Amino acid sequence: MTLANSGNDLRTLDTVLLKVASRCNLDCGYCYVYHMGDEAWRDQPKLMSQRVVDRVAEALGAQYRRQQSPFSVVLHGGEPLMLGAARLDALCKALRSALPHPCGLHVQTNGLLLTDEIIDVFVSYDVGISVSVDGPAEVHDRFRVDHRDRGSYTRVVQGIARLTARADARPLFAGVLAVIDPTSDPVDVYAALKATGSPSIDVLVRDGNWDQLPFGKASPGSTEYGDWLSRLLRVYLADPTPPRLRLLDDMMRLLLGGSAQKEGVGTTDYGILVIEPDGRIDKNDTLKVAHAAADQFERPWSILRDALETFLDNPAYDRYYRQQHDLSSTCLSCPDLTVCGGGMVAHRWRETSGFDNPTIFCADQRRLIANMRGLLRQMSAKAA
Ligand code: SF4
Repeated sequence: MTLANSGNDLRTLDTVLLKVASRCNLDCGYCYVYHMGDEAWRDQPKLMSQRVVDRVAEALGAQYRRQQSPFSVVLHGGEPLMLGAARLDALCKALRSALPHPCGLHVQTNGLLLTDEIIDVFVSYDVGISVSVDGPAEVHDRFRVDHRDRGSYTRVVQGIARLTARADARPLFAGVLAVIDPTSDPVDVYAALKATGSPSIDVLVRDGNWDQLPFGKASPGSTEYGDWLSRLLRVYLADPTPPRLRLLDDMMRLLLGGSAQKEGVGTTDYGILVIEPDGRIDKNDTLKVAHAAADQFERPWSILRDALETFLDNPAYDRYYRQQHDLSSTCLSCPDLTVCGGGMVAHRWRETSGFDNPTIFCADQRRLIANMRGLLRQMSAKAA
């Protein structure tokens, strides 16, 4: 069944993930691109060519004029900095001239290649930088290793230090993104992420589904992630000088009757488009977690061959866009639906019933939301 309220206009893009590199200089044990059974990355060119870049810029510029509301382009991979300074410069130049402010340009990087030369490029075109860090060294290095199985923590913090040491680049440091290890201590993880000096922290659960339980989850009914996030929430609310913590901020906003700012929780639609290095247009790539090619449209679309407008008008895009609202009967009768939203589509997958299930993190969500409700009630009672 589909929830009626779908929020944004169907043809309005919020975010375009531009996969500018299909390979990565790290080999993180949990990566959904390389370690979830989908081998599609092998067919992609290693780097996005200038021909594709020019066509992407032209198409997105036309889309911006059409929708008349700004959207963001996130340089993604693989590892986007593998493009190198010169090609990144050409890419950002093309994108920025097609998408002037207030459109946003961002990069999600593992931080290893954050050299001064590359930072110069991001300063020139005002590109916000988000770095993946999972916590202190012992937590981060458990999974975020290179192809020689060496931990990457020291090199990542060196990259961040280069960024934050420069007065012209510091304002570009937009956030750190951590994948949760539920066996770690959230107090230590919060302290390490805050110590990076980032104005914003985001945390992601490990990927999984009903057939393949996420790392650290003993059973569908267990609440390791809900407990971990509840402890993180307590530390966060007790901090007198906190950075923003996107997931928890969004959930608290929803609990208090507001709306979320990003996908993953709540019931607002977000128009997310993925463009691969060869120009192919895909669905949200986290869908790879469900099964191989789950992120691909039946009829292949390409930015080189198809007009973006035609693609956005196609029923296939319509079905993809509304997938978040295709909720199981359990979710439709759940008292926490407006906060949880049924979870990420990829995490609802089960071979026997497809996506017609609550998220595999359902018990975790219920636990976290209950604890959040209790803590907010306590805080408002204290303030009264
Ligand atoms: S908490 Fe569970 S049942 Fe409720 S909306 Fe989320 S996934 Fe669905």
